Amino acid sequence: MPSPSPSGPPVLPISEHEDEIVAAVEANPVIVVIGETGSGKSTQLSQILHRRGYTRRGAIAVTQPRRVAAVSVSRRVAQELGVSIGEEVGYAIRFEDRTSEKTKIKYLTDGVLLRESLSNPELKQYSVIILDEAHERSLNTDILLGLMKRLIKHRASDLKVLITSATLDGLKVSNFFSGCPVLNIPGTIFPVEKFYSTDRPTNYIESSLRTAIDIHVKEAPGDVLIFMTGKDDIDKMVSKLEERIQNLEEGSCMDALVLPLHGSLPPEQQVRVFSPAPPNCRRFIVATNVAETSLTVDGVVFVVDCGYVKQRQYNPSTGMYSLDVVEISRVQADQRAGRAGRTRPGKCYRLYPSSIYQKEFLEATVPEIQRTSLAGSVLYLKSLNLPDIDILKFDFLDPPSRESLEDALRQLYLIDAIDESGQITDVGRLMAELPLDPSLSRTLIEANELGCLSQALTVAAVLSAEITLRQTRSKDMEGKRKRQELPDGSGWGDHVQLLQIFESWDQADYDPRWCSDHDLQVRGMKFSKDVRNQLSQIIQKIAKGPTDLQARRGRKSDPEYRKLRRALCVGYGNQLAERMIHHNGYHTVGYRTQLVQCIHLLYLKVMNTGNCLCMSSTTN
Ligand code: ADP
Repeated sequence: MPSPSPSGPPVLPISEHEDEIVAAVEANPVIVVIGETGSGKSTQLSQILHRRGYTRRGAIAVTQPRRVAAVSVSRRVAQELGVSIGEEVGYAIRFEDRTSEKTKIKYLTDGVLLRESLSNPELKQYSVIILDEAHERSLNTDILLGLMKRLIKHRASDLKVLITSATLDGLKVSNFFSGCPVLNIPGTIFPVEKFYSTDRPTNYIESSLRTAIDIHVKEAPGDVLIFMTGKDDIDKMVSKLEERIQNLEEGSCMDALVLPLHGSLPPEQQVRVFSPAPPNCRRFIVATNVAETSLTVDGVVFVVDCGYVKQRQYNPSTGMYSLDVVEISRVQADQRAGRAGRTRPGKCYRLYPSSIYQKEFLEATVPEIQRTSLAGSVLYLKSLNLPDIDILKFDFLDPPSRESLEDALRQLYLIDAIDESGQITDVGRLMAELPLDPSLSRTLIEANELGCLSQALTVAAVLSAEITLRQTRSKDMEGKRKRQELPDGSGWGDHVQLLQIFESWDQADYDPRWCSDHDLQVRGMKFSKDVRNQLSQIIQKIAKGPTDLQARRGRKSDPEYRKLRRALCVGYGNQLAERMIHHNGYHTVGYRTQLVQCIHLLYLKVMNTGNCLCMSSTTN
């Protein structure tokens, strides 16, 4: 296949500092690069170092906290260099590796780099590691910062580490790395006029919609970027906006194009936001916070900011996650506004009063490390077997609280990943090898013991692909009837329902039409099949029974579901809740004093009656 013709690197602020950057990299093992969003950090730094010969002794790894950014930016760099993705330039995200022997510039999520360091702690395959978007302060990037600090002591002569960010406190990171240099890349940013609402709107979708239409009717040409909290809001907003634009009086405004932008959008739809608007047409890009700093959309002159973001929060008292809509921080609000001033003076409409911005918003977003369960990370650090690492004293940029580290140790103990003395167990080591969260890994290992590994693999794959079951969108009777044909779990719960759905698709020979007929996302279902194959390959070396689906065709018996539920209860032993028959509810047993005893009793109960609820990791 011929290679695509190169589009060539554009002239971005960072290009003018090429010599300065290379000189700093040459003279120091670690440097920090701070530059405005859109200055070219993600797409150009790797190319500069590639051009200057840094890929002769190893590849360049560029980490991204978000999968969507790893895919999108690598595609862009491949296009600029005129190569096909997966050759000189590639990407690796969990369950998807588009790299080859030839790959010199590799974009990968921070989680994938952590995983690579499990099998290759010195990361010898890389001559340069760029930790991009460090201001996002993802848990994995924070752990990588600590690991890089150790690594450069061992590889001072042949490894270069760059930490890049749009808003990070450069001095703090520099102090963390014993005073390494900080390069500031000044960007051109035009003034952005900010308009505040007098009150918080009761319905921010409706309010954003009205503001967007107002801009379309009254303002000069220029694209509009609208921040929403998640996919559901975006879908609603896109369809309502299209409808209202169509109903505007004909000829009253220029044409309009409404485009969604979020992490679960198929790549071919994601790239649409990077094509400029057609003549006499205004683009409305309705996005999540991926458009804050991860992906730079050119042509934006107006920003509509609802002031909210969806954030995953962990509650140690229940051991559960929730996905909450919360207020953004002032740093986020400023980043959002800044998107309007990249090419010319712009306007930002903030759907909240300025007093809320000043007094209610936090200065900066709370780093993920302070609002997440650390069980997976602690297990990972323990499995690295670093002789001098005491988990409670690991060198973090912002250390997590002692409570959350202890909470992680307790969780790991409950699912047998560590023993009483805190040492990683054999089970824990197996768990760390699986690219899943500890509870799901533990479920697979237990399922292997109980003889239901094949079913558990399917459940783990479908959960990892985040397939959602929605109400049918079909308006006709036939569509509704088809949807009702989907298995319902036969009273065995959501996990069994997911298993049955996947098995029905297997019976239909993986026909994509079967998915669309039943209102299931074809892409998500195909992805879960792919994930299942990968997981089953990884687990082969310990598998005691068949992992393929063929061996199970047509078998759907109660004892098998019972075994699967047992495995899930062991895996999620730290998230069990007891049914309170007289109160019509459930009582979590996570952190009572006699916790271990309690879990043990409950475990026995589950074995006997199945009268327990095993909660999945995120509740809405
Ligand atoms: P930074 O990392 O400093 O925020 P980037 O390197 O991501 O900056 O972006 C630099 C330029 O490259 C921007 O103008 C952006 O629009 C463009 N760009 C980035 N990714 C893509 C893509 N996938 N397709 C087209 N253009 C892109």
